[in-house]
Amino acid sequence: MVSTELDIESIRKQFPILHQEVNGKPLIYFDNAATSQKPQSVIDALTHYYDSDNANIHRGIHTLAERSTTAFEDSRKAVAKFLNANEVEEIIFTKGTTEGINLVASTFGRKFISEGDEIVVSNLEHHSNIVPWQLLCEEKGCVLKVIPVNNQGELIMEEFDKLLSDKTKFVSVNYISNALGTINPVQDIINKSHEVGAKVLIDAAQAAPHVRLDVQSMNCDFLAFSGHKVYGPTGVGALYGKRELLEKMPPYQGGGEMIKDVSFSGTTYNDIPYKFEAGTPNIGEVIALKAALDFVNDLTPEAIAEHEHELLEYANELLKDVDGFQPVGTAKNKASVVSFLIDGVHPFDLGQILDAKGIAVRTGHHCAQPLMERFEIEGTVRASFSVYNTKEEIKEFVEALKSAVKMFKA
Ligand code: PMP
Repeated sequence: MVSTELDIESIRKQFPILHQEVNGKPLIYFDNAATSQKPQSVIDALTHYYDSDNANIHRGIHTLAERSTTAFEDSRKAVAKFLNANEVEEIIFTKGTTEGINLVASTFGRKFISEGDEIVVSNLEHHSNIVPWQLLCEEKGCVLKVIPVNNQGELIMEEFDKLLSDKTKFVSVNYISNALGTINPVQDIINKSHEVGAKVLIDAAQAAPHVRLDVQSMNCDFLAFSGHKVYGPTGVGALYGKRELLEKMPPYQGGGEMIKDVSFSGTTYNDIPYKFEAGTPNIGEVIALKAALDFVNDLTPEAIAEHEHELLEYANELLKDVDGFQPVGTAKNKASVVSFLIDGVHPFDLGQILDAKGIAVRTGHHCAQPLMERFEIEGTVRASFSVYNTKEEIKEFVEALKSAVKMFKA
C-alpha cells in the first residue's frame, strides 16, 4: 500500500481533539513523540468499559467480571499479534516502557547480572533506558558502557563492536531515538550481542507507532513499548520477553495475581505472565489499547510510515529556508522527528511563540540529557509528525518559524 491510499482527512475526523482552536488558531499538534492523540474508537472502548463492563478481572465469577477478563485477555492476544510474539504468555502488561525496562533491570538484572559484568546502552537513550541500569550497577557493581554517536546522531557501530566482550551480559537500546528520530540498526545490535552471549532489550517506545515490529524475526530477548505513543491510553504498555527467560526471572512486585499460594511458611508464584502482574492493573486502559492497535493494523504500519516519511522530507525541504536553522540529528535513517535550533533564539522562546499560534512542539532535553551533553547543547525544539498530520500544517509551522525569526532579528 502507498501513502496516497491513506485518506488523511478521514483519519483526522477520527481524532476529536484535533478539531479545536488553541489561542485562536486551529491546533497543529506536532508533539507526537511525547504522546499521540487518540482516535474515537479508543475513547469509545475506554468509555464502554466504564459504562458497561467495569469489574475486577480474573477472580470474579459474575458476568461483568467475565466480560472484563475476556476483554483484558483479548487485548493481550492483540499485543502478541502486534509484536508477532510466539506465545500470548510472553506479553506482560505494564504502565509503559519505563516500567517494562525497570522490570527487566530489577528481575533479570538482579538475578543474572553480577559484579564486574557489563551492560551496554547507547548515547541516544531516553533516561528511562539509562537510569534503571545505573541503579542496577550501583547495587551490583556492574559496569555501564555506552555506544557513542557521531555528529549526525547515528550510533558508531565500530565502537559498539569494540565494547562487546564475554563480560557483556546485557544490551539495551532504543529502536528509534525520541530526541533525534534516528532509526538504529537494531538487527545488527541484536545479532552481535547474541554472538557474545548477551541478552538484548529493545526500547520500542518510539518504534511502535512507526514501524512493524516482529519480535520473532528480530530475535530480541525483551521489547518494551507504551500504549500512549501508539494512539492508545496513558498508563498502559507491554513488555515482551522470551518464555524461557521470563520463567527463570523472579517476580517484580509482590501482591495479588502474581501468586499461586500464600502462606507464612512460603509463597509460590503464578505462571507467566501473571507472575509479573501484581495488583489490579489499568483494566480499562489495557482493553482500550486493543482498539489503538486495531487502528494501526487497519491502516498498516507501512502506510503510516510512508505518510510520515513524506511529511519529514517535506519539512526538511521547507526548513532549509528558515534563517539560522540548525538541524540536530541528520541520520540517514530517520523517523518523522525534526529536532533543531535557530541561531540566536532560545528553544523555549520558540516553543512559546509557536504555542501562541496554536502549534504544539516540545522544547528542552527530551529526557535525553547525555545526548544533549554530547552535542554540547541544553536542548532543542522538536517537531514530531504523526499519521494525522498534513503538509499544510508543516507549511503553517515553517511560516510561523520564519516570522518568529524575523521578530527576534528585528
Ligand atoms: N524510551 C523512549 C525512546 C521514549 O521516547 C520514551 C517516552 N518519551 C520512553 C522510553 C519512556 O516511555 P514512558 O514514559 O511511556 O514510560
